[in-house]
Amino acid sequence: MTDTPVRVRIAPSPTGDPHVGTAYMGLFNYAFARHHGGQFILRLDDTDRERFNATSAHAILEALRWLGLQPDEGPEIGGPYGPYVQSERLALYTHYADQLVAAGHAYYCFCTKERLAEMRAAQEAAGDATMYDRRCLTTLTREEAARRVRDGAPHVIRMRMPREGVTTFHDLIRGAVSFENALIDDQVLIKADGFPTYHLATVVDDHLMRITHITRAEEWISSTPKHLTLFRMFGWEAPQFAHFPLLRNADRSKISKRQGHTSLHWYQAEGILPEALLNFLALLGWSHPEEKEIFDLNELIANFTFERFNTSGPVFDLEKLRWLNGVYIRALAIDDLYPRVEPFLIKAGILQAQPVPEEQAFAKQCIALEQEKARALTEFPDLVSFLFNPNFP
Ligand code: GLU
Repeated sequence: MTDTPVRVRIAPSPTGDPHVGTAYMGLFNYAFARHHGGQFILRLDDTDRERFNATSAHAILEALRWLGLQPDEGPEIGGPYGPYVQSERLALYTHYADQLVAAGHAYYCFCTKERLAEMRAAQEAAGDATMYDRRCLTTLTREEAARRVRDGAPHVIRMRMPREGVTTFHDLIRGAVSFENALIDDQVLIKADGFPTYHLATVVDDHLMRITHITRAEEWISSTPKHLTLFRMFGWEAPQFAHFPLLRNADRSKISKRQGHTSLHWYQAEGILPEALLNFLALLGWSHPEEKEIFDLNELIANFTFERFNTSGPVFDLEKLRWLNGVYIRALAIDDLYPRVEPFLIKAGILQAQPVPEEQAFAKQCIALEQEKARALTEFPDLVSFLFNPNFP
């Protein structure tokens, strides 16, 4: 795989506002791709129809552009392996799931929700691991199962996970990681609504899109043995894996939507500069070889290696972000700073919408006077308003 060009992807689910975790994953995938002269791909994982949100798909791309992490291939961009939206690729997933059923690597399951709930309750009561007991695999012949499917019986397709052995892989950040196969459930691949699960869709797409490295959040690490097993069942070469640490609050809790700052729109509204946010995210879990705190995207690209990651959950410290943001604000030339501040002055009613050049020139002088103090673009209206007050002594 060494002479294959590097191709990486992020696969966010469009379920709400663009998430800061998407920016975090995007940043390192982008830096890794650029470091190796490879490609960075955006793919939308919208197979969970209950959580789907149509406007969020476009907002993800907009947010990546705001950050300067423009994908090489993706929805609205195109590319040789499209479409890049999973709900537009359904026929592919059914085709590959059928292939696994035909080869005996997957099977139809007709168990109802109620039956599965009873099964789980009994397993829990007995102190056993809760996993599918394979009733449909062991009590139905393949012919019977196929006939029920033809007759229109509601069903899912499950993968037949090997019950022996261990799946081991070399994580580029964590080293050797092993899972006992007997503890891995027969994962559903195709749901009753005909949609694939994340697991099937991601493996099929990572193969068809020629992804060489899957670099994603730590929460997916336990899915990796399932994915590796699927790659093997299909007879496909598996990509390499790296699992990043999860971002945490100062009290070690996982950053959550409730606090607001998971949405990238929050940073825009708070007047955080995209270059400061990138620098801040780059410092979470990764460290510069010279221990520098302030460095730009190009410097991250030049120095990027997985070895520079540390696996303990990095702390998401918004005070540090504000400090960094101040550093970046001070470093901007006034002609670059002004257009970024202008919308905040208009919103605060200090400038009228579409200010004339004289007003802009005056506002620029005011901003330059206060540039040293601001730690966010949102602070400028308060910092400069007295200069716009005709009664100010
Ligand atoms: N849709 C998953 C997520 O949002 C993708 C995980 C992966 O990269 O495989 O985290």
